[in-house]
This record gives sequence, C-alpha cells and structure tokens, in this order.
Amino acid sequence: MRIGFGNDVHRLEAGEALVLGGVAIPSEYGSVGHSDGDALLHSITDALLGALAAGDIGTHFPDTDARWKGADSAEFLSEAARLAAAKGLRVINLDSTISIERPKLRPFIDEMRANVAQLLGISVDSVSVKAKTAEGLGEIGNGLAVRAEAVVLLGPEST
Ligand code: MG
Repeated sequence: MRIGFGNDVHRLEAGEALVLGGVAIPSEYGSVGHSDGDALLHSITDALLGALAAGDIGTHFPDTDARWKGADSAEFLSEAARLAAAKGLRVINLDSTISIERPKLRPFIDEMRANVAQLLGISVDSVSVKAKTAEGLGEIGNGLAVRAEAVVLLGPEST
C-alpha cells in the first residue's frame, strides 16, 4: 500500500467561477487559475501523484502549457488515476478538507464526493470531503483564498 498527500491554494476574486470537486458553486468570488482552478481536484491529484512518487501536478500539467488553459481539472485526476492503474494500484480511500470562508459548501459536498468517486472508479463511501472556515483568520478567513488538502491510500488493483 502507498499513501500520498496533496495541498492546493487558489486566490479568490470577484467575477471568477468557483469550481470545487467538479461542482460549479454559486458564489460572488471564484478561484483564479490557469485551469478551472478546482483546488479540491488539484489536491487529490497531487496526493495520488505523491503516493506514486510521480512528481506533482505542475510537472504533469504545467501552467505554462496553453493546452491546460481553462482545462477541466477532472482530466488531471483521471490521468493520475491512469498512472496508478498502470502500476497496478487503485485508490482504497481518500480524505480531504476544503478551507473557505464562504459560501457554505455543505449543500454541494455529496455531489463533489460522487464526482470524485466516479473519476476514480471507486465507491462514494471511500471518498470523504470535509469543509471548514478559517474563523475569519488569515487569507482564507478574509475570503482571499481557498485551500484544499487531501490524503489518499492506494492498494493493489485486485483486492
Ligand atoms: Mg491548483
């Protein structure tokens, strides 16, 4: 078995779309990014790549490459899952936390879990997505940024 950790931060600005876990969330502020700026999918992708010791999202999908401009981050996670499968590994379970001051994410959590589970080809019971505020502290607390963190456990494809 192999474990991996991922972490991602995006700035929030007015007029940008807020996409987390593949869900477009109604919000006055959205994440700034070369791709769709989906901090949750980026952190899970990084966790998967980390578990494989296969570099990070920046090495696989550089933000200097026009190919990834406005990209659907689902592509990144799918590619990381393909790399895992090529090594005979699959995600056993993953846990993640999104830190954002607003809006409240609770109504969207199950849709995010379903999206991630589908992209990884695993049961939704194996995908945890949590959300919290930063109690008004720092960049997150002041609504200037969103952060996501994820850990994944990989195991043999066959079990
Ligand atoms: Mg990112």
